[in-house]
Amino acid sequence: MFWTQIRYHGAIHLHTIDLWLDPRASREWAFVSHAHSDHIAAHRAVILSEGTHRFMRARRTLPDEATILPFGKTRAVRGVNVTLYPAGHILGSAQLLVEVNDQRLLYSGDFKLQPNSAAETIEIPHADVLVMETTFGHRRYTFPPRAEVVAQMADWCRKTLEEGLTPVLLAYSLGKTQEVLTELAGRGFHFLLHDAAYQMTQLAEELGVSFPAHERWSPGWGEGCVVVCPPHLRKWLLPRVPACRTAIVSGWAVDPSARYRYGADAAFCLSDHADYPDLLAYVERVQPSRVLTVHGYASEFAAELRRLGYQANALDKPDQLELF
Ligand SMILES: [Zn+2]
Repeated sequence: MFWTQIRYHGAIHLHTIDLWLDPRASREWAFVSHAHSDHIAAHRAVILSEGTHRFMRARRTLPDEATILPFGKTRAVRGVNVTLYPAGHILGSAQLLVEVNDQRLLYSGDFKLQPNSAAETIEIPHADVLVMETTFGHRRYTFPPRAEVVAQMADWCRKTLEEGLTPVLLAYSLGKTQEVLTELAGRGFHFLLHDAAYQMTQLAEELGVSFPAHERWSPGWGEGCVVVCPPHLRKWLLPRVPACRTAIVSGWAVDPSARYRYGADAAFCLSDHADYPDLLAYVERVQPSRVLTVHGYASEFAAELRRLGYQANALDKPDQLELF
């Protein structure tokens, strides 16, 4: 019998130790892997990294009790040995390793294997049981080389400016905006950031990331500059910038119809997630004896892992799962 039971009730619950992993609803004790809005809630007590703590504070979702752990150092929390490892997804994003009686369980929320110029590089420990998110867990999702995508994005910005228009890059305020800035650094662009993106970039700067020159955007501004705006605010922002073209920056841009879906003039496939080949590579590096998948293409990815000889199941079903 394994030391714990893993249940899925809208989020992953390590039943024996009563720890929730990235729950969307408020819980008594939770691990928060990173500060994207679909991973945070107002819990009573949390385990998290310093970076995630800073971003959560800015997003006003701080818990009563925060256990902030440095990466790579094992600590006993409520009698359980836990270690955080960088996940490479956004600044502060973490994987959680839980150890009891020589059994190791690794949970990864969103993660990225390729180097992320605006986040810590992922570190991958070995574990017996791996619980992983599988957002792009279908073989159709293989991302093009990052350098190629960045070169295309820079060309598009330059040509748009040469035509007297303002390029507007639609990118999430936390993570993607900072990656866009660091990737497009040193090319002579001047950046204007929507307030939400500006605030997150300020925090990332305080956490030690360097960015090219940028300013907080104000209505009417944009001529001769590259504007960065969160996708959900574009309808508000676009009437307030000079004549412009828009581009969505997202892993979903690997789908040729993405720019129509986002109502943008162009789409660039720069993702802060692992693509399908990297999800497989990640499992190989963890070398688990058991894999549980959640979110995205969880069932398809678990089926592919079984075909490769792993014991694997999708977890996002309401029934209880007892291991070993
Ligand atoms: Zn995320």
